[in-house]
Amino acid sequence: MREQHLTVPVDAQMGEGLVAVKAGTELDVDLRLESVHEGVLVTAEVDTTAEGECGRCLIDIALPVEVEFQELFAYHSGEAFEYEVQDDHVDLEPLIRDAVVLALPFQPVCRPDCPGLDPETGLRLADHPELVTPEHSDPRWAALTGFTASEDEGTGDEPDADLQRD
Ligand SMILES: [Zn+2]
Repeated sequence: MREQHLTVPVDAQMGEGLVAVKAGTELDVDLRLESVHEGVLVTAEVDTTAEGECGRCLIDIALPVEVEFQELFAYHSGEAFEYEVQDDHVDLEPLIRDAVVLALPFQPVCRPDCPGLDPETGLRLADHPELVTPEHSDPRWAALTGFTASEDEGTGDEPDADLQRD
């Protein structure tokens, strides 16, 4: 068993979304390489930083990215293994890339309750809390404006529940 810590720069950007790990960003890789009967069992922990924009208010953000994976690299045996030891090496790059890209948030936010931008002025609402009104505090709920729950809606179990509404 062998443990290694590597710090390597990203050669090509990882991810295409609002946040990505840019080329040149450092990857901290903690590796455990274990000799097993079929090959080399690799356990990796990768830490890095993704940069981009908040999906709601568009300010620049940097998010920590932490991924872990374990994969068996088999000695060439004629059997179909997805990963193989080649020339006494294991190529971790595609595994790290896949794990990091999958871990990137699809809708990154600068903070979980980021109120976004004011639809009229374009100002960042987190900087201008006085502009936050219930109507546009979250545009995803805008379609529900005007709906109010009626109090005698019943449980939905009655077969003629719809007929009872006025
Ligand atoms: Zn934001």
